[in-house]
Amino acid sequence: MDKANEIRREKGFVDVVNLARDFDVEVVSVSRPFENYNAQITYDKGTKKYVMHVNEAHSVERQRFSIAHELGHLALHNKQLAQLGKLERSGASETEREADEFAAQLLMPEQGVRDYLTTVGIDPKCTIDVSVVKRLANQFRVSKQVAIIRLRELGFYVPFIQFA
Ligand SMILES: [Zn+2]
Repeated sequence: MDKANEIRREKGFVDVVNLARDFDVEVVSVSRPFENYNAQITYDKGTKKYVMHVNEAHSVERQRFSIAHELGHLALHNKQLAQLGKLERSGASETEREADEFAAQLLMPEQGVRDYLTTVGIDPKCTIDVSVVKRLANQFRVSKQVAIIRLRELGFYVPFIQFA
């Protein structure tokens, strides 16, 4: 994660596309507006190359999470990926959960979140309200839903928030 930290220091948020490229993963956009398709990383044994397809029909925030999730598979499930060329689409929920966890940590690292709250003068012991969630989501370029889940994981108190 050193590279991720380095990028974050420069830009304030992690550039997941550049991070993927640093790991020699080619990132390719595909447009599938009517499918429940986020992204998929594959490995070609012949060329020994990783390719990640990402659904460009989704919002930038969702694409960033999808890319971070697939990077999680690369980091955590590379053995299966290298052997089979891809992971089962209906993979074990444990595998998917691990990749989601990795993505959340990559996009919203604990120290980064705490530093940001301190910088903007928010007392972390107070209730996190809508405006704070929005600012955090903006800062880290994630969806508000991802920001809320991550904040709760980190032990912050976020009451029920209706965004619709
Ligand atoms: Zn997955």
